Formats: sequence, C-alpha cells, structure tokens
Amino acid sequence: MVSTHPTGVQHSGSQYLPQSWDTNTNSSPNQELLPLTARVHDHDLLEIGGCDVTTLVEQFGSPLYILDEETLRSACQQYRDAFKQYYKGESQVLYASKAWNCLAVCAIAASEGLGIDVVSGGELYTALQAGVSPDKIYLHGNNKSREELILAIESGVTVVADNWYELHTLVEIAQPDDRAIRIMLRLTPGIECHTHEYIRTGHLDSKFGFDPNDLDEVFTFVSQQPALNCVGVHAHIGSQIFERQPHQDLAAVMVQWLRDAGKYGLKITELNVGGGLGIKYIESDDPPSIEEWVKAICEVIQAACAAENLPLPKLLSEPGRSLIATACVTAYTIGSSKVIPEIRTYVAIDGGMSDNPRPITYQSVYRAVVANKMSSPLTQTVTIAGKHCESGDILIHNALLPKTEPGDILVVMGTGAYNYSMASNYNRLPRPAAVVVANGEANLILQRETYEDLIRQDRLPERLKK
Ligand code: PLP
Repeated sequence: MVSTHPTGVQHSGSQYLPQSWDTNTNSSPNQELLPLTARVHDHDLLEIGGCDVTTLVEQFGSPLYILDEETLRSACQQYRDAFKQYYKGESQVLYASKAWNCLAVCAIAASEGLGIDVVSGGELYTALQAGVSPDKIYLHGNNKSREELILAIESGVTVVADNWYELHTLVEIAQPDDRAIRIMLRLTPGIECHTHEYIRTGHLDSKFGFDPNDLDEVFTFVSQQPALNCVGVHAHIGSQIFERQPHQDLAAVMVQWLRDAGKYGLKITELNVGGGLGIKYIESDDPPSIEEWVKAICEVIQAACAAENLPLPKLLSEPGRSLIATACVTAYTIGSSKVIPEIRTYVAIDGGMSDNPRPITYQSVYRAVVANKMSSPLTQTVTIAGKHCESGDILIHNALLPKTEPGDILVVMGTGAYNYSMASNYNRLPRPAAVVVANGEANLILQRETYEDLIRQDRLPERLKK
C-alpha cells in the first residue's frame, strides 16, 4: 500500500506497519498521522528519527515532545518547491512561529530558507537569537506595545500594521532622520471558512486587521506618511482549513486591494495570503496537500493579476500547523486508570491540558499509539485523562488502544503545532522537555522545567515570611 503523508511525501507504508495497523481494518490507527521516519522495530517498539521512543523517555523523562527533523524539513521544502513550481514571480514562505516558537525550530525553518512570522516581542527576540535574518521576519499582532514596535523597528523587521492605533503609534515613534518604517497592512477580507470559531480570523467580526470598508482612509493616510514605507497587504482567514475555495477567494480579493493601492500612489509589491492549511489529526481528516494548496492560490493570483494588468507581487504565505504539527509527537507515561462499568474506562497520563491545551480549548481530536506495544491488538476503547485538577482535562475521548498497564508509553500524534507554544504551568506542572531527533541522534531543544524554575519569578514579601 502506498499512501501520501500529510506533508505530501509518499510512504510505502506496509513495510513499517505493525499488525495492529493493518489498513484493511478501518479501526487501525493510520501511519500518516505519525512523522515520516516512524517505524516499528523489534516487533513492538516505536522508533522516530532512528531513536527508540521508550529509550528517549528513559533518557529525557516524561512527558516528552519528540520533534522529527526530517518531517519538518520535508514540509518546508514542499512549500518552497511548490511556490517555485507554480508561481512565476518571487515568493517567500514564512514559518508562523506561533505554532511552536523556540530557538531550534526557528533555526531549522530559517536553514530551509523560510522567513519567520512572529506575534510578540518574545517571539521576535527568539527568532533574532536563533539567527534569523531580520529582513525575513514579520511582526504581527492586534495590540503591539510601543516597546515591541521599537524592538521591531530597531531590528529592521517588517511590521504588519493591524489598526489605526498602531499606525498612529508608528508615526509617533518614527524619528525624522530614520529610514521609513517598512510596514504591511493587515486587512480583514470578510471571508468565512469552516473551522473552529476561535481559530477563524478572516470574517468581518474579527479582532484582527483593518475593516476593508476603511480601505480608502487607510491607503490615503499611509500614502501621506513619509515615515511609513508600505510594501504590502496581508490577510489570514483562519486555521485548520480543508477547503481550497476560501483561500482562492482571499487571493482574488487581495489582488483587488493591490490594484486599489496603486490609485493612492502606493507601490505595493508584496502580498501575504497568511496560513491556515489544515492537517490530518485523525483518519477521516482530508486536507489538500501542500502542493495542491499552493497551486490553487498561485493560479488565482496569476489569473487575477493578468486580468487587472498588474505585475505579479512577491507572494508570501505563513503556514504554521501544516509545517510542524505532524513532525512532533508527545510521549507520556501511563499511570492510574479507573473503570466505570458500562460507562467508560479512564486511563491517566502524566501530562494533559498544560502541555496540550487544544482539546479543552477547541475540542480538538487526537489519536495515540502505545510506543512499547505497537503490534499488540487494539482491544480497548478508553478515555485518556490528563492529571490536572479539571474534569475537562481529557486528551482523547474513545482512544482505541491495546491493553495498557502503568508504565506504558502513550504517544499522542500531531502535537507539533500549538502544543508547546500554548503550554502552561497550570497546577504548577513543570513544562516538559523537547528533543529533536534525526538519524538516530536525539538533541535536547527545550530543557524540562524544574520545581526551582516554577518559583524562580515568585517573590515572598518580607512581611509574609515566617
Ligand atoms: N498567520 C497568522 C496571522 C495567524 O494568526 C496564524 C494562526 O492562526 C497563522 C499565520 C498560521 O496559521 P496555521 O498554523 O493554521 O497555518
């Protein structure tokens, strides 16, 4: 059987599939949900990036984020190559680092030629420290602070201006002798897409971006400010989107903005269509491939520019999830369980909503395998419970697993995006470590937090001391 991995790379699956993954049975977990390098060795054990997962947990502790470098690099390359193939103008893929911002991930993305989109001073600082070139960094945000704007301007990154308050602040900050500040304008396209309400941003009732009805005023204002060098327009319509049409509609609308900008004397040469391509979290998810998504957008932009007689803009996109989600899994250790006869069985792990807040926030659905029982028959359907003091702290409802025991290693798949980056210390759980694996080597990229780390920023006023 040959299947196409969400990153578009072909898996010749069967040689790696353990018995319990027999694709002839509909209930089997799907190898496409795992990183590209996932294999089963010694009959029962899961290996990623040439490293045995149970050994990684022994070495680095549990829970553990395991990032497969090959899967991440492959997705970066597919975006780059698809734009090269389908777009006749210049293009630049930016990694939306909100998906997972840390030094190592920024460095890998940059080494693949990607730029980085950041949404805060902290993300910007991390990208700069990772060695990302400032001319490939774009700062987003609907309420950037003065300090964040100053850091961006002084570092030479592009500011994606989101609202009037920000435009006025930028003009105020600008020094008369300085070079004009390089900005793009984020506009709300008024496009609906079918995704969770909280991760939908392109409809008119969104906290992000200028109202397109204010376009005339915005373009007039910007064109009259010598302190601002407006190079482009930006929009992002939402996340985990499976349909191509909303992004195609967006592309068409954006070319009209480009045309309109010319009437104000603005030389807009960049167009950023945002991110949003969905990924396969469960077997029934059916997103387009990276190549299909890129092709669909490029075709619309090229046709619309030809119709308007406009030169092709530099085309930017900023995927997050589709670059990194499938590249990472989270390994947990199974502990207690609770059987409620005829109702359900809870199996508890040593993490939960603090390392993966997506299920409790967005009702997101995940799949899991047991790293030390990859060939065991899947005989039970259980509820995977986190260890937090919160009834809603359920990572997976109806997980189909082999019989489990305390000490087994549960591997939740597709956790590269919006897991570590949204992690918290709820209940004062230290955040897990993360390793990057490649060719049998594992390197720590995020150290596990300690109890000392948890109280590092605490201050106990003298009068409260015993
Ligand atoms: N760009 C912007 C402005 C975003 O808000 C987001 C995420 O919501 C992204 C890019 C990345 O989206 P995704 O991870 O769905 O590709």
